[in-house]
Amino acid sequence: MSSAADLQAALGRIDRKPYGFYKDLRGRSYSLDGFDLCIDHVQGDPFAAPSRVRVDVSPARADLPEFALENSDARRACADFLLRAFRESLRAQSVSAGSGKSGRLEISAPAQEVLERTAVCVSREGAVRVRLTAGLPASGRRILAREAQAMLVRKLPDAVAAVFEHLDDRGLRAHVEVVEDQVALRAQLAPNGLLAFVAQDSVLPRCSGADPRPLSDGLVFQVPDALARELEAPHAGRVRGLGIPRGVTLIVGGGYHGKSTLLQALALGVYDQILGDGREACVTDAAAQTIRAEDGRSTRGVDLRAFICDLPLGRRTDRFDTDDASGSTSQAAAIVEALEAGASALLIDEDTAATNFMIRDARMRALVPAAQEPITPYLDRVRQLWEERGVSSLMVVGGAGDYLDVADCVIQMDAYQPREVTSQARKVVQFLPLGDAAPRPPGPWPTASARIPDPKSFDASRGRRSERVRSVKTRAIEFGREEIDVALLYQLVDPAQARMVGDVLLALSRGLCDGKGSLAQLLDEIDRTIEYEGLEGITEQSFGDRARARRFEIASALNRLRSLQLVAAQ
Ligand code: ADP
Ligand code: MG
Repeated sequence: MSSAADLQAALGRIDRKPYGFYKDLRGRSYSLDGFDLCIDHVQGDPFAAPSRVRVDVSPARADLPEFALENSDARRACADFLLRAFRESLRAQSVSAGSGKSGRLEISAPAQEVLERTAVCVSREGAVRVRLTAGLPASGRRILAREAQAMLVRKLPDAVAAVFEHLDDRGLRAHVEVVEDQVALRAQLAPNGLLAFVAQDSVLPRCSGADPRPLSDGLVFQVPDALARELEAPHAGRVRGLGIPRGVTLIVGGGYHGKSTLLQALALGVYDQILGDGREACVTDAAAQTIRAEDGRSTRGVDLRAFICDLPLGRRTDRFDTDDASGSTSQAAAIVEALEAGASALLIDEDTAATNFMIRDARMRALVPAAQEPITPYLDRVRQLWEERGVSSLMVVGGAGDYLDVADCVIQMDAYQPREVTSQARKVVQFLPLGDAAPRPPGPWPTASARIPDPKSFDASRGRRSERVRSVKTRAIEFGREEIDVALLYQLVDPAQARMVGDVLLALSRGLCDGKGSLAQLLDEIDRTIEYEGLEGITEQSFGDRARARRFEIASALNRLRSLQLVAAQ
């Protein structure tokens, strides 16, 4: 392996030469001050996407405490902590030095969630791998060797030293513990018959729709005794909080009383949050999926019969194809797809649901005979979904009182605080019975046949480019000629997750999809690969801007791929 002096000299030799001479560095490794630097990719010009470099720090140099390496959750939290520390120390080092991105050292930006990422990986042994980008300096298209030397031989080692020599041990411990606590709380949900848990004194509201940090003057969450449960966190000890049971739960209440805010906090409770987030003891079953209406999306071969039959013009609904779903068909498809991917619970907010999918009231039932109405409202299936398939529903319902008939638990949000109103709801149900319009499933839940994606679905090529995959924030994933709209996937929280999903699509196009495996089997295989090989087992090599997306978000993107085709059913 070459030394710092070699790197210094190699850069010196290409001073003032055309930018392309930087390519000489590609694939080389240098042993610097206590770490190895590898230059994995060299940008084509100073304005192109910056070069990708990797820093490998040995266990001895990183000298991470034992508690940070003990299990995969601790290592994920530790990596997240180091990533945040790197961002700080790079900010201090990074200066613009020349054209375009010259001189900039950057690393992926995390938000409130502690996700498994490719930016920083911590091994069991305590080795640390950091992936960053470096804008190799130039003036116009001429290499600026002095600036490059300063960046790679001085500033980068300084940044690494700043992270490891002044590692905030207490901060690291707190970061790891808050993640381990969330993992432990989440693991206690199912054994306690719970779907979710919101700790007393949590702060649920966010600064704004565009800023996920906690609202500074948000009212803290107060849990009434009737809904209070206690769980045990390994570090924080016993935690009192609102326990949301499995089954069918309604969140009711007046407008602007905090219903959606609670549901959104629970939707993100599938992830671990950083200390200080306000929701760091709010956890939800990891397989809960947000469901909403999304008219205009495509669906491919989805069996909608549980909800929709006998469409006009004899359109089949056992394998429903459309390029322009309606509100109700899109929501029905989302539910069937979620079940296919293995969701344990569906989270639905009336604000984003299709009304005619959610309910049909007595007067409408009287006006339009059942035989002329293709839709079985969710109301009629929600209990069956729980009782026969074990899938819970947690719904914000402010306007549709028919749901009181099917609820196991009713929570009212009143001026941002929860109240237990289940027995009152029962009284209302007795007092104002629905009679003939009482919800009931029209028949057994139809068994859907497995959907097997056809390899033809996945074509990453575009024009002369053999493969082109990129993502636009969390709004869209460009795959070949297509742009998959993922803007409405609430639980896709980080652009790095969207990029990971893009990589999965690429892997599918390169042979992971073989025309034999069902969609659910492909998702299993992806999960298995990540379990055995880590995130790097499925993502594009050398990129530090990938984060793990759940199988549900991967499935959701796949299901929105307009070029998706299925192998014909036997
Ligand atoms: P709903 O769904 O019941 O109509 P929302 O959840 O949308 O109400 O909340 C309405 C507004 O109140 C939002 O702007 C939200 O940020 C704010 N809010 C929610 N919870 C709190 C709280 N605990 N303290 C202060 N403001 C809150
Ligand atoms: Mg709302």
